[in-house]
Amino acid sequence: MAKIVCVLYDDPVTGYPKTYARDDLPKIERYPDGQTLPTPKGIDFTPGSLLGSVSGELGLRKYLESAGHQLVVTSSKDGADSQLDKELHDAEIVISQPFWPAYMTAERIAKAPKLKMIVTAGIGSDHTDLQAAMERGITVAEVTYCNSHSVAEHVVMMTLALVRNYLPSYDWVRKGGWNIADCVARSYDLEGMNVGTVAAGRIGLRVLRLLKPFDVKLHYMDRHRLPEAVERELNLTHHTSLESLSKVCDVVTLNCPLHPETEHMVNAQSLKNFKRGAYLINTARGKLCDANAIAAALESGQLAGYAGDVWFPQPPAADHPWRHMPHHGMTPHISGTSLSAQTRYAAGTREILECYFENRPIRNEYLVVKGGQLAGVGAHSYSAGNATGGSEDAARFKATSK
Ligand code: NDP
Repeated sequence: MAKIVCVLYDDPVTGYPKTYARDDLPKIERYPDGQTLPTPKGIDFTPGSLLGSVSGELGLRKYLESAGHQLVVTSSKDGADSQLDKELHDAEIVISQPFWPAYMTAERIAKAPKLKMIVTAGIGSDHTDLQAAMERGITVAEVTYCNSHSVAEHVVMMTLALVRNYLPSYDWVRKGGWNIADCVARSYDLEGMNVGTVAAGRIGLRVLRLLKPFDVKLHYMDRHRLPEAVERELNLTHHTSLESLSKVCDVVTLNCPLHPETEHMVNAQSLKNFKRGAYLINTARGKLCDANAIAAALESGQLAGYAGDVWFPQPPAADHPWRHMPHHGMTPHISGTSLSAQTRYAAGTREILECYFENRPIRNEYLVVKGGQLAGVGAHSYSAGNATGGSEDAARFKATSK
């Protein structure tokens, strides 16, 4: 019998939903590269229901308890007296989502002598100290591809929202106004602009494909080059550095994982290479950017807008500069946790657990760390080390918010 600790975000303040806005989800069987969607032996939830919050339990309780395991679900994750900390001493598996991450630091891993696996129900395992997991031989797995397209749609939405000045215009309507000049004084067309993605992995490439019909000039920066046929199809310009990409782009979107190589890649120095008035969209990880440098660039006009859904830490304290900086379009971390995405990553988490308990190999593409080293998607997209430093500040959210 294993103890599984699952950290999920709180239910809606209005209570767990009894009904939903829509009755079904479109059927998708494969991702564009041929990878199948998650294939667990079964699921115990209704696709399209809220699974990522505490009462949704990722649809795992029936499956785990019927096999004799213990499932603890909590949203209490930060501060030394958190439920997470109390449960670690005999936990075998910890599951959390990047939206409400259980920061599995070296200290927490040390408190969990029986810990064998850390699962990210979603994509992006930077909330785990991967170095510490490697040293302890703990498996780290995530549900590769489950919400990559969800995020790409969000990037397109945020790009248009910033360039066309959508959010301030919407605000004028809510305030009872009809202030056309106020709305359009910062509004442009995307057509003809140079748009560049930092990383052209599953999300980055999807963003390029979705933006192509807007007749923009497309750029990308990645460690590995895309196939020549794709570069030709999308008329892409490849860059080997952020400096080269940001010098020519009107819109830059960050779509790489957070790991020691990418931490704070956008900072006061690198922002000087951006075109004045560039827009920056970051739905990848908050810590790819120096938070104060972003706020200063918006104040000075070096950036015309910044939008994203990722922060560091999460949840961010009430005094986080991104809550109050000008010309931002920030939301809580939601792009990868639409109801559509939740169905996929809940099924993927179930698949990973079934493999673990039945001693079957977990799909290689889901592995981040295995057998003391980076593996699968981890070996391709991450670098060794730790990116969780400073995550203890998440405990300030409760203390600072009303
Ligand atoms: P992929 O693994 O498909 O793509 C990641 C890409 O990043 C790879 O192409 C990789 O390049 C590239 N990369 C890694 N390091 C660097 C670097 N130093 N410089 C340039 N490129 C680099 O992952 P996804 O596209 O599916 O997801 C990307 C990230 O987006 C996740 O790691 C996560 O942090 C974030 N995300 C956010 C979500 C949200 O809800 N907001 C949901 C899902 C993901 P190469 O292969 O050439 O090494």
